[in-house]
Amino acid sequence: MQKELDIKIKDALSQDLQKGVPIFLKDGFNEIESLEEGSIIKLRNPAGKFVGKGYVGKQNKGIGWLLTKNEDEPIDTAFFHKKITAAIKQRADYYGNKDTTAFRVFNGEGDGIGGLTIDYFDEFYLISWYSEGIYSFKEMILEALETSVSFKGIYEKKRFDTKGQYLEDDDFVKGERGEFPLIVKENGQNFAIYLNDGAMVGVFLDQRDVRKKIRDTYSKGKNVLNTFSYTGAFSVFAAAGGATKTTSVDLAKRSLSKTTEQFEVNGIDPEKQDIIVMDVFDYFKYAKRKELAFDVVILDPPSFARSKKYTFSSSKDYTNLLKDAIAITEKNGVIVASTNNATFGMKKFKSFVDKAFNESNRKYTIEEEFSLPSDFSISPLFKEGNYLKVLFVRTK
Ligand code: SAH
Repeated sequence: MQKELDIKIKDALSQDLQKGVPIFLKDGFNEIESLEEGSIIKLRNPAGKFVGKGYVGKQNKGIGWLLTKNEDEPIDTAFFHKKITAAIKQRADYYGNKDTTAFRVFNGEGDGIGGLTIDYFDEFYLISWYSEGIYSFKEMILEALETSVSFKGIYEKKRFDTKGQYLEDDDFVKGERGEFPLIVKENGQNFAIYLNDGAMVGVFLDQRDVRKKIRDTYSKGKNVLNTFSYTGAFSVFAAAGGATKTTSVDLAKRSLSKTTEQFEVNGIDPEKQDIIVMDVFDYFKYAKRKELAFDVVILDPPSFARSKKYTFSSSKDYTNLLKDAIAITEKNGVIVASTNNATFGMKKFKSFVDKAFNESNRKYTIEEEFSLPSDFSISPLFKEGNYLKVLFVRTK
């Protein structure tokens, strides 16, 4: 078994950990240089009292994650097995649902191990490692997973700096290799998934409930604009819900073929939809000039984006993005405003909406509010983990 290091931390961090905060923030330590990725550390308050045990894995402001408050609990395969089986048990409804065959099985600190996520894609598992530290437990975690589930194959993504060591096809771990695209289901729609092709697999599972709401309640007979559309997942659901037309706009060239494919695997004719490879900010100008107006406008930008002409930061520029959207949304239309920025909460996000409507001299009501779906479990005292905020805003 791995040696465990005793470390005295500052009082503020020990109090936080006692309350249930799961992350080891760097500034709670007297020094961090000597801490090695993957070490098990037993943290003690300034008086020497044990407050928690975890591992070293650097991620942003964190230097590691809490694993247990029991000083004597060993961090071994049995430990990981216990955490993974508990997470699987909580997702029994997802496993039993034939209409949805892609979901998150293990969500980092929300399931008791920060820095680790496991997603399910129709009998294939995808493990994402967010630090070298958690990656050092790979063998134990794999064994724990393999003995908890039946599967066709396991893939992985190393979401930490691998210093260019990211070899083509090194995403495959074990079992049988998948044939890609793998077609998974979500509330009856299909998605083409690639587990072997870079960090992003084709769909963001955390928007599942939002896609369903768009399809079931907001699309029939509507002209829908989907900005920052990536593979067009929202457009697929809008079209399936009876939208008269969808327009998907994304800067990335690959979005054209990817979006075309997602329509095709759903039996929707891509020729009848618009898929535009363009900077969203240029598209807004174009749409305004042409006096286009949409019934539904979906905004799901990355937290930070830099294109040739524009820099967008959702914490600074979301109000302006909303104003651009308001200008091309019909009266009695709907703006679906989404952000995954963890640095601000719902209250602030609503203040962006309020400001944008006030400055546009328009009125609005908020009709729906979404945060993470239930398979993305969260740790109550780690608010950054609860990053997703989505508002359906009716324009007046
Ligand atoms: N809404 C998508 C996910 C968006 S991911 C979904 O639900 O699946 C963010 C996307 O924004 C990426 O595909 C990226 O190419 C695109 N993007 C970033 N900056 C952009 C810009 N200035 N104009 C258009 N697209 C942009």
